[in-house]
Amino acid sequence: MGTFDLSGIGMTSQRTRDRLVKRLADNGIDHDEVLTAVASVPRHIFIDEALAHRAYEDTALPIGHGQTISQPFIVALMTQSLLNRPRPRVLEVGTGSGYQTAVLASLPMLVEKVYTIERIDLLIERAQERLRAMRCGNVRFKHGDGYQGWPKESPFDGILVTAAPRSVPDALLDQLAMGGRMVVPVGDGSVQELKVYDRNRAGFDVETVEYVRFVPLLKGVR
Ligand code: SAH
Repeated sequence: MGTFDLSGIGMTSQRTRDRLVKRLADNGIDHDEVLTAVASVPRHIFIDEALAHRAYEDTALPIGHGQTISQPFIVALMTQSLLNRPRPRVLEVGTGSGYQTAVLASLPMLVEKVYTIERIDLLIERAQERLRAMRCGNVRFKHGDGYQGWPKESPFDGILVTAAPRSVPDALLDQLAMGGRMVVPVGDGSVQELKVYDRNRAGFDVETVEYVRFVPLLKGVR
């Protein structure tokens, strides 16, 4: 499969996407640029055809390999939590379908470049094809273990982790720039805490913003 329906008919239409955005706003997403980005990204191309008709429901959906595309509300919440100020260089850990990647890459005034790491090769290949179809040129992909981060490209102004570690990997904390922010779900149960880490001269300020359910951050590659 190398083609994607970007035409915007039926369930893929802009109107359907606008309804989703309204729902996100009703549920407390108040970052205008983030809402605009969600309105612009065709979520249906990030989902298998059999489920594409559900693309604009506010729900997580399976993407194969035991993984899921995140719920739009959570994508919007994590993105707005990261972008309390511009974050030119952002690292995403857990590319999955590439949907969250595409939202981050569609915030031109706030994010210049997105670096994204995924441990499952088939997922990252597919995500790369989708972003190419969207003509997203400001993303770099890496097949690797996100526990290690991306040392060569560090430091990052923002790090967004879309799978849950039991505790935040030191390598990721190390790769955060001074003034940088990391948004990460932490915990080993079925419910985790979505945490925000702000790096300052004294160390890190940590805050919990929400309770969430993510797949676990696993070690090694596949
Ligand atoms: N942001 C994704 C959500 C994907 S689910 C989306 O919008 O679709 C989380 C992803 O993290 C899965 O694809 C899983 O394979 C990946 N993952 C888990 N552990 C990882 C690790 N150590 N390094 C990189 N990716 C990892």
